[in-house]
Amino acid sequence: MWRQEHQYEHTQFVSVFQGQPTPIDLPDYDFTSWEETPQFRTNWLISHEAIHEQLRVLTGVTGVNLADVDLTKEDEFYDWLDDHRSEHAEIRSALGIS
Ligand SMILES: [Zn+2]
Repeated sequence: MWRQEHQYEHTQFVSVFQGQPTPIDLPDYDFTSWEETPQFRTNWLISHEAIHEQLRVLTGVTGVNLADVDLTKEDEFYDWLDDHRSEHAEIRSALGIS
């Protein structure tokens, strides 16, 4: 399930920054919680994009607006998953996580 793996990586990002000599506290959201309502999806996407924006600033990784997607459309969902996956991979390598 992509949500579990995804959460695992976000939790790793949070702990890497907390473990730095000068710790940086990133909000540790639970991205596994999910409801099939438009309001929930929108809020999820906005909090998630906000975290990614902070990660981009901290790592120098660039990425598209991950909140700009309609997850109910299958083609958009798969494009989003791809973009999102490659950004996670870039952040991981920027942080030296193998
Ligand atoms: Zn993410």
